[in-house]
Amino acid sequence: MPLLPRLSLVCCLFVFVSFAAGKGRPNILFIMSDDHANAAVSAYDDTLIQTPNIDRLANEGMLFSRAFCTNSICGPARAVTLTGKYSHLNGFIVNESTSFDGGQQTYPKLLQAAGYETAVIGKWHLGSDPTGFDFWKILIGQGQYYDAPFLTAEGQVETEGYVTDVITDLAIDWLNTREDEKPFMLMYQHKAPHANFQPGPDYLNWREDETIPEPETLFDDYATRSPAAWDNEMRIDPTLELQYQGELNLKVPDGLRGHERSRWLYQFYIKNYLRCVKSVDDGVGRVFEQLEAMGELDNTIVIYTSDQGFFLGEHGYYDKRFMYEESLQIPLLVRYPKMIEAGSVRDEIVTNLDFAETMLDLAGVKVPSGMQGESLVPLLKGKKRKGWRDAMYYHFYEYPGYHYVKRHYGIRTERYKLIRFYHDIEAWELYDLDEDPQELNNLYGSDGYEKLTKRLKKRLDKIQSNFGDSPELADELVERYPHGSMPRWGRYQDFPWRD
Ligand code: CA
Repeated sequence: MPLLPRLSLVCCLFVFVSFAAGKGRPNILFIMSDDHANAAVSAYDDTLIQTPNIDRLANEGMLFSRAFCTNSICGPARAVTLTGKYSHLNGFIVNESTSFDGGQQTYPKLLQAAGYETAVIGKWHLGSDPTGFDFWKILIGQGQYYDAPFLTAEGQVETEGYVTDVITDLAIDWLNTREDEKPFMLMYQHKAPHANFQPGPDYLNWREDETIPEPETLFDDYATRSPAAWDNEMRIDPTLELQYQGELNLKVPDGLRGHERSRWLYQFYIKNYLRCVKSVDDGVGRVFEQLEAMGELDNTIVIYTSDQGFFLGEHGYYDKRFMYEESLQIPLLVRYPKMIEAGSVRDEIVTNLDFAETMLDLAGVKVPSGMQGESLVPLLKGKKRKGWRDAMYYHFYEYPGYHYVKRHYGIRTERYKLIRFYHDIEAWELYDLDEDPQELNNLYGSDGYEKLTKRLKKRLDKIQSNFGDSPELADELVERYPHGSMPRWGRYQDFPWRD
């Protein structure tokens, strides 16, 4: 054989072998917990808990200080992540009464087609079987904390033990037994710290004798706010108690009234929540150790996030749903030393809409048109990104539904937030986040804010239509997904004796 063709054959072989071996293409470990508030990640705020393993991503990588979800509810947030599209376009707008259309384009499918070995282990919660995965082992619906059954392509399998530890074991097993000629993309997704906040066996009484600091807004009186802020079932006192009475050994001591009762319920709630977080942090540490033992840690982009945020007693609330900061914000930490400077922080507005495009970009896969986010790769590389978005759009639909938070949409800019609650209410809220980061002072309708309100409404109209949404579509989706007939646990206003 002449020299030139022989050389090119060798070259071709070399290219093929390195491509197949995934040389140059990073592994992706996408860690998503469920309902993990930024306030319970010590890289963001160490008042409540230390999470050293999760913090390692921030210390050795990048922390995003303004990461948000576009619809703060479990399944829908996951559908946004998979598709890079808003809920009204991916079709999964509320948890119940719809299931995710797995026939549509998702980033795991595109990564799989590009030669990645793909897997999802743990919480899925999309109502239909996963598509685009070489391996999947998922909880059934919400799953349960102890002895949870899992679904696989071959059917249901039983497991024993605490679900956070089980999901971690399964992820480690998969990493140990996978084919290693391909790069991998593993979605390692926890149920914790989602309700009903059952701690693991090692942490049943963890910090029992401590008094955990209370949020400043625990006794929010909702003055200046729209009725949406109080006409719901979001309060630790009384709703959490009514929801979980008979579970978790929840028994308020006799004789506690008013604020003392709320304080007791807060301690009960926050301790169980933090115990669940503690096991998640342990699990992240064990998976790190596994990657280190395999020599793959620095070849792996590790992302830590949550499907949405969560209230930890702020405004008297638990749960999520609202466009208020605690529920809107998500933790987002990324470690990949080949690209990211250790200990770096970005304060650009990013959303869970960006995850799909970011992972495709990191893997060198072309981003298809139709995805609505932006790749975060330029930000990860530490580049100044002129023209980056300075606002995000939010839309929540699940009403009537658990917790009875009214349907609403809105815009959050770097400084302001404008929200419209609609359907069985017509109300607006406007916040100046620089002056009022806790969102206690609704400025909508206040003197002197007319021009700002007009300007923000215009921006809201524009961003809404840019994403293919509209007030008319919102009304249409009320008809199409009326939801409803959820159990009522009890409203704040039904228990006036408590305060
Ligand atoms: Ca969730």
